[in-house]
Amino acid sequence: MLNLLAIDFINSQWYNTHEDMFEPLRDENWLAMMFKLWNIPAAFDLTEARSSELIELREWLYSLIGDLSNNSRLQDEDMQKINRHLTKSLVKFNLKHYNGKYYLAESAVKSDWNWVINSIILSFTKLLIEYDASRIRICDNPECGIVFYDRSKSRTKKFCHSSCANIVKVRRYRAKQNSSISGK
Ligand SMILES: [Zn+2]
Repeated sequence: MLNLLAIDFINSQWYNTHEDMFEPLRDENWLAMMFKLWNIPAAFDLTEARSSELIELREWLYSLIGDLSNNSRLQDEDMQKINRHLTKSLVKFNLKHYNGKYYLAESAVKSDWNWVINSIILSFTKLLIEYDASRIRICDNPECGIVFYDRSKSRTKKFCHSSCANIVKVRRYRAKQNSSISGK
């Protein structure tokens, strides 16, 4: 899996179809845990409008992942939308040193709601810049749909995990069996 806030955020859609149809983007505790994990100091009230904004953002980013996994580049209007978002909060940088490496830590000039949205979008841009976008996939198990990164040499990975591959294999086998039985 990719260690990126954007991927965790996009993959939160998985809970919608599992775990008793739980929508994490309407759950203050789930979001607080997520933002703590990703060092986003954001104090805010989770209103209905904000939840809807997050859900819309996730749907849009998921559709962009769909484009990337089909090996097409982002549309100009999506690039413009990303850039419009990025103008909404100012970022400051801090040179740090950790584990023998220097890096630039970024934080918001103002930790407001825009920063929450922009942290996710910034993380998505990192996915495009620092990783090979042509290796981004959506799991082929229709009941899964998890976004993952294909690190295989052959670049032909279709499932996020072998368990998803097995589920689909068994299902196809049974469907074939059933159709051959009913065909008799
Ligand atoms: Zn899967």
